[in-house]
Amino acid sequence: TGMRRKLAAGNWKMNGTSAALGELDMLATSHPAPGVDILVCPPATLVSAAVRTVDNRSIRIGGQDCHSETNGAHTGDISAAMLRDAGATAVILGHSERRASHHETSEDVRAKARSAQKAGLMTVICLGESLLQRQATNTLDIIGAQLSLSVPDSSNGQNLVIAYEPIWAIGSGMTPTPDQIGEVHDFMRDRLEQRFGSGVGRSVRLLYGGSVKAANAAEIFGISNVDGALVGGASLTAADFGPIIAAL
Ligand code: PEP
Repeated sequence: TGMRRKLAAGNWKMNGTSAALGELDMLATSHPAPGVDILVCPPATLVSAAVRTVDNRSIRIGGQDCHSETNGAHTGDISAAMLRDAGATAVILGHSERRASHHETSEDVRAKARSAQKAGLMTVICLGESLLQRQATNTLDIIGAQLSLSVPDSSNGQNLVIAYEPIWAIGSGMTPTPDQIGEVHDFMRDRLEQRFGSGVGRSVRLLYGGSVKAANAAEIFGISNVDGALVGGASLTAADFGPIIAAL
């Protein structure tokens, strides 16, 4: 664990107009030298302004999705190269909301991730089972399939972060038990070591996501192979996100 720098990542989803940049400024001001990595992923409309707001301070800015192609006839989409050009250094891919409402498959996610890594972005690839899947099947089979299909061969410890986000825990206030989180994270670590070798496999950061808040952050960060969190609702204000970062 010592080799992996902790990471607190915020996913603003479809929230925030220019007024929200004040929260980002406050966050940067209150965490001048955090000792952990902080990533904030605002909506695409705010990426350039967010990059200017953090102004090379301790927070990196990312997108929430990108297209697999660099440019072309894809109305409404943005490419990894465009995010990079706007100053983003990371991108969330395969979030369950995009898998559900935009019908993204793990193969789609892998194509996007390949393109994003080629453009120099760190990819935060999201995986997770539904409640029905957890009840009806072996969760590790679901996670194993999503992991192998969504992660491109071009991955390494610098350009790949995995976020385990059980769908039933997102925005619900429900979280898995520490044993349930640990089981999935240990499994993902094994799979990554098998596929990429132990050096690379051990250097990939594994985040937990789903109803992380200040009150449960410390317990979650104490679980084996949990290297940080992907945070939705509680990342929107400096007052909520700050204490989560401090718990890392
Ligand atoms: C998410 O959607 O990535 C997430 C973790 O959301 P929340 O923290 O609001 O559950």
